[in-house]
Amino acid sequence: MSRSGLFAMYNNNTDAFSTAASIYYGLFSMQHRGMDATGICINQNGQFKYKKEDGMVIDVFDENLLSRMEGHAGIGHVLHSNRSDVREYAQPIVIRYTSGQMAVALNGGLVNTEELRKELELQGAVFQTSDDAEIISVLISRARNRFETIEEAIADIMPKLRGAYALLVMTPRKIIGVRDSLGMKPLILGKKRNSLYFSSETCIYNELDVEVIREVMPGEIVTINQDGIKSFQQIHEEKRALCAYEYIYHSRPDSVLNGIEVFEAREDMGRILAEEAPADADVIVWVPNSGLAAASGYAKALNLPLEDAFLKNKFYCNKFVQPTEDMVRRGVTMKLAVIKSRVCGKRVVVVDDSMVRGTTGRLLVDLLRDAGAKEVHMRIAAPEVKNECYFGGNDLDRTSLISSHKTTKEIQDMIGADSLAFLSVKGLKEACKGTENTLCMACFTGEYPVK
Ligand code: SF4
Repeated sequence: MSRSGLFAMYNNNTDAFSTAASIYYGLFSMQHRGMDATGICINQNGQFKYKKEDGMVIDVFDENLLSRMEGHAGIGHVLHSNRSDVREYAQPIVIRYTSGQMAVALNGGLVNTEELRKELELQGAVFQTSDDAEIISVLISRARNRFETIEEAIADIMPKLRGAYALLVMTPRKIIGVRDSLGMKPLILGKKRNSLYFSSETCIYNELDVEVIREVMPGEIVTINQDGIKSFQQIHEEKRALCAYEYIYHSRPDSVLNGIEVFEAREDMGRILAEEAPADADVIVWVPNSGLAAASGYAKALNLPLEDAFLKNKFYCNKFVQPTEDMVRRGVTMKLAVIKSRVCGKRVVVVDDSMVRGTTGRLLVDLLRDAGAKEVHMRIAAPEVKNECYFGGNDLDRTSLISSHKTTKEIQDMIGADSLAFLSVKGLKEACKGTENTLCMACFTGEYPVK
């Protein structure tokens, strides 16, 4: 199970940027989707050359390596994971089987992993990891023997995959993009001259001057190669369930999902939150970086000034040696600092995108009070996260989710805020222009789209 970013290119232009460099830039623009491991697999005239390691894009690849990885097609993956043995879970998974080579990269999570694994192990399969991507690659390779094309093999195994997935499969002759039948994870087709792309987000397409063609549809199998684009619609379902967290946090604000710009959706979350839970305040501040859009919507709706009061240390990353608990208690964070003149003596509303464990909320309130804020009100531009995600949205168990066992008032007391409010589920639906039949909101509502 993973939260990831996917990028692929089938390079049909001899004058285009190099394939490996384009995938590198694609992954770099989606680094926010996963900073724990990175991998790229390139097709060099039918031979696959790949590198995958723990670490961010710039840690794993350099100019030298990219220049040695040139080829006409490739797929890449960035991974977010809470596992300690993250290197083992770096993707793409590259396998050799009776029909040749295949590379697989997955964004998502299956809910029937154990069942599938047992079934395959009984048939003699041996696994290196417990990752869903490896299970899917084994399923496809086994099904491939029974069909003429790999698309038919993928179509055959899709009904077995219960859960959320956007999938890239590369063979020596093509790249295939697939989405689960509910469209829970995004995957978007792009084009620049004759070259074709798949990406988890549209943000990188703007940067590489790639034109968005359309989203891969829920349940659709799309092939790109030297002949262009070929589509196989396999599973038709009325219901859809795009992960609402894509709008709240996962996607970059300049990406567009289902025709809605993520920044605009987040600004609407803030606006609706202001209608639902206004605060008597002097100033609105945002939490860098994902709280900006919602804070802007909140401030505009109440006609209050929006201040950039937090400074985020841009060198802070997941490899940073964390301060001890005692140091944190005494205000040492190294991640965020407050510009005192922006908040001192003022009634402050701090807007954040969501609250999961509650630890950041407490830190924000402490920092603002230490900087002299007269009152600190916290507003969360998402509903209370009460339930686990089984689809690769987060890796947290229910007991880590503060709203699963505390009321809003209890959390308010715990973080030391003067008031606390969350966006309603109705407000979230309105901001994302969706319904319970088009969005997954299970971590808020407990109504899972897949049993
Ligand atoms: S449970 Fe939450 S995080 Fe997981 S797919 Fe649904 S909305 Fe996204």
